[in-house]
Amino acid sequence: MIFLDAAAATPVRREVLDAMWPYLTGGFGNPSSHHTLGEGAAAALAAARSAVAGVLGCRPGEVVFTSGGTEADNLAVKGIALARQAANPQLDRVVISAVEHPAVEESARYLERFHGFAVDVVPVDPTGRVTPAALAHVLRPETALVSIMYANNEVGTIQPIAALAEMAHARGILFHTDAVQAAGWLPLDTRALGVDAMSISGHKLGAPKGCGMLFVRSRVRLEPLIHGGGQERGRRSGTENVAGAVGLAAALTLAQGRQAEQYARVAALRDRFIGAVLAGVPEAVLTGHARERLPSVASFCFPGTSGEAVLLELERHGVVCSSGSACAAGSDEPSTVLTALGISAEVAQTAVRFSFDASVAQADLDAAAAAVRAAVASIKSLGAGQDR
Ligand code: PLP
Repeated sequence: MIFLDAAAATPVRREVLDAMWPYLTGGFGNPSSHHTLGEGAAAALAAARSAVAGVLGCRPGEVVFTSGGTEADNLAVKGIALARQAANPQLDRVVISAVEHPAVEESARYLERFHGFAVDVVPVDPTGRVTPAALAHVLRPETALVSIMYANNEVGTIQPIAALAEMAHARGILFHTDAVQAAGWLPLDTRALGVDAMSISGHKLGAPKGCGMLFVRSRVRLEPLIHGGGQERGRRSGTENVAGAVGLAAALTLAQGRQAEQYARVAALRDRFIGAVLAGVPEAVLTGHARERLPSVASFCFPGTSGEAVLLELERHGVVCSSGSACAAGSDEPSTVLTALGISAEVAQTAVRFSFDASVAQADLDAAAAAVRAAVASIKSLGAGQDR
């Protein structure tokens, strides 16, 4: 099998599992327990927090461990907006981009349904980018928070986060970014990015599912969503997933150490793959930005086919990928990300996303490109046969 769906999930890396293992077995203590086993777990959690803070250029106290990217996004969007509204009831608007993951979009809609917020959606250009001018257009004195993703999960487009955050700050507005897809590929220094909050998920990075984190700048007030024993400095109650935090820290540290080398290698493979797909299927359309895109994502529309049919055909050739995001897969609706880019609903139904991790091999991508050509040709010949 050639697995080209790493934006949905990655396998746990050996080094990550080795780092986690002691806390799943002998060192299983609860970090809140006042005995040796508990203290060992608390020390591991503190070390993981410091390691994550090192990668993010922040203080350990600014790291809140969560159950993954979805929870981190919910905590950022709801937690910051609600805390700001409580301090100043006039702050009752949030801004999101038109291409956010449902974890951000639905959190904003929740604020709209239950807390009287208005949601302003900033459009993207045909490459999927939010321009500073477009953002400036929707910012208001009542805006509590802007949430714009670092890199998109369906088309890989990278946003100019530092410029967008600066624009929000110039108006006294806080800025959150969903860095779930960016982590492992793009710089995560929170000071250079200038963000107030940033979400990361473990399972996109070689750590297991069910662990993630939210960076929250220390002066930013946050209304917790999960109440209980006051863990994570009262920002996220619940017994901490010690092994998950250790795994996330190990995965982030590993990715950070190899980032520059892996970026260049994988970006070159991606460009070769894009070239081969476009040569094999001349009518294919690359979606997203040509250059400002994750090295790990190549996404296309194949007009005249259906994305689901291409996926099935590719799987027969041993290539596993996705028709868009894993969350939207199986839905009959065209991707809202693609329609936000100005792609018609009809063409959006023909989308296929190929995404890879750093272990991707050139031979696999060459074979996948050949499989794409064969798959599209076979679907089209079937369609032509039916038309006759
Ligand atoms: N944000 C983005 C951009 C994602 O791609 C995903 C997962 O696909 C999430 C958030 C959700 O993360 P998790 O699966 O850890 O809940």
